[in-house]
Amino acid sequence: MPGRRTFLQTLSTLPVLGNLMPKAAAAPLPQRDFFKELAVVPFINAAGTYTALTASLMSPEVMSAMQYASRRFVNLISLQDAVGARIAQMLECEAAVVTSGAAGALTIGTAACITGKDQARILRIPDLQGMKNEVLIQKSHRYGYDHAVRTCGVRMVEIETADDFEKAAGPQTAMALFFNDNNTKGRIDDAGWVALGKKHGIPTFNDASADALPVSNLKKYTKMGFDLVTFSGGKGLCGPQSAGLLLGRKDLIEAARLNTSPYSDSIARGQKVNKEEILGMMVALELYLNRDHDATWKEWERRVAVLTGAVKNLKTMTSEVKVPEIANHTPHLYLRWDPAVLKIDPVQVRAKLFEGTPSIQVTPSSNKQELVFTVWMLQPGEAEIVAGRLKELFRGA
Ligand SMILES: *Cc1c(COP(=O)(O)O)cnc(C)c1O
Repeated sequence: MPGRRTFLQTLSTLPVLGNLMPKAAAAPLPQRDFFKELAVVPFINAAGTYTALTASLMSPEVMSAMQYASRRFVNLISLQDAVGARIAQMLECEAAVVTSGAAGALTIGTAACITGKDQARILRIPDLQGMKNEVLIQKSHRYGYDHAVRTCGVRMVEIETADDFEKAAGPQTAMALFFNDNNTKGRIDDAGWVALGKKHGIPTFNDASADALPVSNLKKYTKMGFDLVTFSGGKGLCGPQSAGLLLGRKDLIEAARLNTSPYSDSIARGQKVNKEEILGMMVALELYLNRDHDATWKEWERRVAVLTGAVKNLKTMTSEVKVPEIANHTPHLYLRWDPAVLKIDPVQVRAKLFEGTPSIQVTPSSNKQELVFTVWMLQPGEAEIVAGRLKELFRGA
């Protein structure tokens, strides 16, 4: 057996010592350039809140909340209780929970509608024998994210009219799912969906993930009567990318929580959310509600003007600004021109912007006809950098 002294001496020669002994008041560490080390190229985001492009950036206040949480242990259920209550108060709804994202919210919200707080059902889902196993949805509202609902073992029942809804609704119906962005694309609108759900005692769930703008939307849909509503945490709200909000009826939020972490034997144990994301999400929401949204909008218009200013004298160039009514309700800039005249086409400009230094990412929906930008994820000074690159590219073409 080595003596204590030998042991300490041995330890002190190990490079891991710093990891074993946390420093009391850690001085800021010199910043390692991880992306450079890994040869993963960061870029200026003139695209928008795309998950594959890592969507949005968290503010120092959010990061500070996450770091605060990272240094302390707490009981996770107590934290969920307290933050859920705080968020519900802020958004004037019955109850709330921070989820692993809007897709995670779709899964645990659906599970809640199927199982309620019945422990036997919670343990058995997605084997739905003897349980409600259908979700109603308008044909025009089918979308990729309903996979997060089908995960619970339910069958999607497509309907088109209010009459179809009435006929399809029954004791096997667990939930009625609504895709907010397609509000005007179906035959039944949001209020109509709520009314049908209430008439048949079927919980309605509105996926408003990308719809945190205008800010009034955060309260609108629960107040309208949807039993469950979700928003992504890492899109317009600029919270943790791996977080989201599930808002709604108290009994359903409680049931949703029983269907996920920290409960090991639950369908969404994999959609774990720890204290860092929970606090980060809460603080992001506080900042978002306190933000001067008019000033933010004016800043976005200024950035659009900076970009269009860079190309406005080019022959055949036209610019158009569109603001989607619902999802990603923020200015989208479309640049169009005749490639034969300017000797470069939108696909080439997009590629050159991406390959340049710094790398610039435009909206993926850009194509041969047009280059599409959003400016809401640009950081201070970046609109000017993008404008400068555009000038160079068209000059050099
Ligand atoms: C982005 C999105 C989701 C998924 O959101 P996450 O927070 O990334 O899980 C779900 N539904 C819609 C409509 C979305 O736009």
